[in-house]
Amino acid sequence: MHETDRLYVEGGWRPAVLGAPPIEVENPATGECIGAVAAGGEADVDAAVAAAVRAFPSWAGSDPAVRAKCLQRLRETLGERADDLAGTVTAELGAPVRIARKVHVGLPLAVLDSYLGVLPDLVLSERAGSSLVLREPVGVVGAITPWNYPLHQVVAKVAAALAVGCTVVLKPSELTPLTALALARAVHDAGFPPGVFNLVTGTGPLAGEALVRHADVDMISFTGSTQVGRRIGALAAGTVKRTSLELGGKSANVILPDADLERAVAAGVSSVMLNTGQSCNAWTRMLVSADRYDEAVELAVQAAAAYRPADPRSPDSRLGPLASAAQLERVRGFIRAGVAEGAELVAGGPERPDDLPVGHYVTPTVFAGVEPGMSIAQEEIFGPVLSVLRYRDEDEAVAIANGTPYGLSGAVWSQDEERAVAFARRMRTGQVDVNGGRFNPLAPFGGVRQSGHGRELGRAGIEEFTVHKALQL
Ligand code: NAD
Repeated sequence: MHETDRLYVEGGWRPAVLGAPPIEVENPATGECIGAVAAGGEADVDAAVAAAVRAFPSWAGSDPAVRAKCLQRLRETLGERADDLAGTVTAELGAPVRIARKVHVGLPLAVLDSYLGVLPDLVLSERAGSSLVLREPVGVVGAITPWNYPLHQVVAKVAAALAVGCTVVLKPSELTPLTALALARAVHDAGFPPGVFNLVTGTGPLAGEALVRHADVDMISFTGSTQVGRRIGALAAGTVKRTSLELGGKSANVILPDADLERAVAAGVSSVMLNTGQSCNAWTRMLVSADRYDEAVELAVQAAAAYRPADPRSPDSRLGPLASAAQLERVRGFIRAGVAEGAELVAGGPERPDDLPVGHYVTPTVFAGVEPGMSIAQEEIFGPVLSVLRYRDEDEAVAIANGTPYGLSGAVWSQDEERAVAFARRMRTGQVDVNGGRFNPLAPFGGVRQSGHGRELGRAGIEEFTVHKALQL
């Protein structure tokens, strides 16, 4: 057992300065307390930022190949510990074991591989007329991450920032800090110099805000809700620091009339059920042409029936609990709102599954007859709840797809790829999967409008942590 009540600062483990009561971590499948982490505060953030400031000049000035070697060792260390890491994700998030290993740990390993692949080709200086234009590391980065992909969200930003020579202070979600602590141990064992990476556990309002307000933090890279993103943007303005905001979504899965309906519906339902609906890029709105609408609803109900909530430790579980009691109440509240607003409940509902009296389980839910203005068609529910909407023609489908404040992800399906791509171009969103195109860690990931700004992953995700400097020669 590792101690979990320590912060990782300047290459060592230390208790929180104020000794505030620790934050208990719950297993959402059982309700049991599985650990407690330090509630870091302003003094801890100050210490971590000071360490990152001290480490910055030599890390920023180091040979990129040295930094790549550290990242390579981190990749190997995480790979060796993959099963343990997956176990931690299952315990604190409730992710089914298969998904924990394949997605929660497999994805960040693939992301590290992709960063390592991109790094040698990164252009960090180029001539523009009489100038030499450099891309330099932005400085000390404050990384604030959510609980829904507790390893991936951290690796996506921290590895990119470290790769270009930034130093980092990470404040992970208080719901899933044990995975972040495991990452910090891996960073330590991979041999990064002290102060290059630091970890302060704690709550958003205390540790998070202290990091955002800190004058020596040059950039905040935040992944989380749009509501907190707004607060972070406002606070960051106080010191005019750069922000990268990766926020919520309400993505549309647009099934054009000539599409392979069965495939498109199955993929859409799977997208909503993955991680018990707790994925920012889930296609939570399915848009179907009026003439194929009834058939699509029937297929969606059938597909949803295959996702029975079950104990995430069981090897065949595909759908674990939601991450917390608050999350469960939120999702059930949206399901009740959908019914109250007149949508037709065709699968699931607000009641918890009969066979699971303990844990934060919800029944996978499908709504038909959803109108674009309903709350279940506008707001991010963050649970396994699908809204199926009807459109008359492509123009109306575009208007519905673009008719929320968000723009993170999406999908479009048609037998005619050119038609699908033409439709995808009209969608105001950061990513669109065409006919089930696979997730690609080399592609920039991020949103438009209230899904935020800034990009993660691939070359763009690394360049995000650089700033231009021009030397006139
Ligand atoms: P959240 O916004 O509640 O919390 C995210 C992080 O911010 C946590 O570490 C939290 O402690 C911290 N925080 C909270 N209040 C803060 C404050 N005032 N100042 C500074 N930090 C603060 O989000 P969550 O519930 O952990 O995660 C779910 C949300 O994340 C969803 O909205 C989801 O769509 C979004 N998300 C977005 C992406 C993306 O790439 N766009 C990816 C994953 C999750």
